[in-house]
Amino acid sequence: MKGSMMDYQLTLSSIVKRAEALFGAKEIITRLPDRSFHRYTYTDFTRRAKKLAVALAKLGVRPGDRVATFCWSHHQHLEAYFGVPMMGAVLHTLNLRLHPDDLTYIVNHAEDRVLLVDKVLLPLFARFQDRIKVEHVVVIDEAGEAPEGTLSYEVLLDDADENAFQAPDLDENDAAAMCYTSGTTGRPKGVLYSHRAIVLHSLASAMAGSLAIQESDVVLPVVPMFHANAWGMPFTATMVGATQVFPGPHLDPVSLLEDYQQEQVTVTAGVPTIWLGLLQTLDKKPGTYDLSRMRALIVGGSAAPEGMIRGFQERHGLTVVHAWGMTETTPLGTVSLLWSSLESEPEDTRYKYRAKQGVPVPLVEIRARGTDGYVPWDGKTYGELEVRGPWVAGAYYNSPESADRFTEDGWFRTGDVVTIDPLGYMEIQDRTKDLIKSGGEWISSVALENALMGHPAVAEAAVIAVPDERWQERPLGVVVLKEGQAATVEELRGWLADRFAKWWVPEAIEFVPEIPRTAAGKFLKSALREKFHNYQPPTAS
Ligand code: ADP
Repeated sequence: MKGSMMDYQLTLSSIVKRAEALFGAKEIITRLPDRSFHRYTYTDFTRRAKKLAVALAKLGVRPGDRVATFCWSHHQHLEAYFGVPMMGAVLHTLNLRLHPDDLTYIVNHAEDRVLLVDKVLLPLFARFQDRIKVEHVVVIDEAGEAPEGTLSYEVLLDDADENAFQAPDLDENDAAAMCYTSGTTGRPKGVLYSHRAIVLHSLASAMAGSLAIQESDVVLPVVPMFHANAWGMPFTATMVGATQVFPGPHLDPVSLLEDYQQEQVTVTAGVPTIWLGLLQTLDKKPGTYDLSRMRALIVGGSAAPEGMIRGFQERHGLTVVHAWGMTETTPLGTVSLLWSSLESEPEDTRYKYRAKQGVPVPLVEIRARGTDGYVPWDGKTYGELEVRGPWVAGAYYNSPESADRFTEDGWFRTGDVVTIDPLGYMEIQDRTKDLIKSGGEWISSVALENALMGHPAVAEAAVIAVPDERWQERPLGVVVLKEGQAATVEELRGWLADRFAKWWVPEAIEFVPEIPRTAAGKFLKSALREKFHNYQPPTAS
């Protein structure tokens, strides 16, 4: 017997309608390239999103067409986040930190018809512009300037009448947006999000017991809008009517701290490399910034070291919330909040749990596959994490060759090696390709990195496998020291020896001025592996 409820489609249009009706006076603030602040209201935003939808239709964009953005995080990008899907087209955010060859591949593979680009990014765009086939290039600039052969975003909007916008009848399973994975594992692959996936993901992000984003929040996603939809925060924030702050191109610690203080930000989100930099700045100038309203620094994208979580909490009273996700999971999968049963545990235990990647949010299921079937939830046995849920990709866009990333029974294989403990907390031990196999046993590079980053002299650390005749592979530590700090290899080895079995401790640690980053700001371990390809440890045993 079927239920008899309304057949109400879960689409982004419903989010816009709600924002229009309820949050008209709330603000959206952008840090512009010249460092000044642009402010406007939700009323301005929804009006301009509709104008964009009308303007795109006038350019010939039809439902299902892909409209790409090559932009920093700002209010026009937010207009595209909603204006494009609202008219039935697909918002395709391009990661501007990718190599021009990858961008060429991605734009052509997605068959983008229109591309919106920031004026300040035109030099970067010029590096692949001639190799892509888009019909219209639309330039975003506050003053409305656009070079010959391109269209001005502001002029297009001026010429469009928002009252002419007619919401198409969208099906919740229609595509709304697409993102390509950064390609740290092979060719970039497209993930095509449906309206339904984004709406449900927004609800899950807004839930208490999850990220709990609500109307009273002032939200600043540091994670760019060109990376995994800024973790869905612009969608979630608009759904609940939170004040939104976009940092534009200014992602350095001091600019962010200025933004946090000036706008009294309550929730912010980014990858650990951002927070490691921010923590160092705060440590140098404690008490300089008023961050009293900040309730959560959401960290994901790679493992948040426990030392960093403690550093923020104990030295600055700031709470780090650790979460895990992927482009393929829209991206929120797990959040590490403490179950009530952990409240009475000693502080050290609580920090250990907070440093795990956490428990799955409602509607996301997890399991881990080991060599002999699915591993028990004992917190010890390694297995590859598999997930499923309404906002998890069921396939890659036009990519039959990647069908092996999905199991026969319809789960997504993440490529992350994890343990799951009896309370359901998942902990990433490694990515399958980063695990170190020494003498037939696995060593978790993530665990070693986190421990190294807990040492007071260490700013950043990555651990990679280097070939070893006897053991097949051994870990090599690659460390960036904090400015003005010193530590010897022996001292760091001793630090690790206090925390791990002897055979886990790397024989060698190299000091470097910096660790190369991926397009998403994570440590680029493949570059380190290349660099230390024929590594001979100075003190090989
Ligand atoms: P990519 O890193 O391939 O460019 P994504 O940004 O989609 O693409 O990253 C997803 C991956 O990031 C996950 O598979 C996982 O390896 C890693 N990741 C995400 N969050 C965390 C976390 N909290 N801790 C450790 N690793 C994480």
